[in-house]
Amino acid sequence: MADILEFRKPSLNDKNKGKTLCRHGHHKWVVDKEKQFDVKQGKLVTIYRCTRCDKQRVRAH
Ligand SMILES: [Zn+2]
Repeated sequence: MADILEFRKPSLNDKNKGKTLCRHGHHKWVVDKEKQFDVKQGKLVTIYRCTRCDKQRVRAH
């Protein structure tokens, strides 16, 4: 049991590190879909996605 916990620790720490940055508003935004037409807003939007936590952000043009 202890061995399994030791083995899993590093990856969990890496994940938490990234999410801590995200929680403080330091998301790693990349363009997911550029200039998509948003029917709801009736205009072009660019969708950004955080590579760490997969949160999405929409920017209207
Ligand atoms: Zn994030």
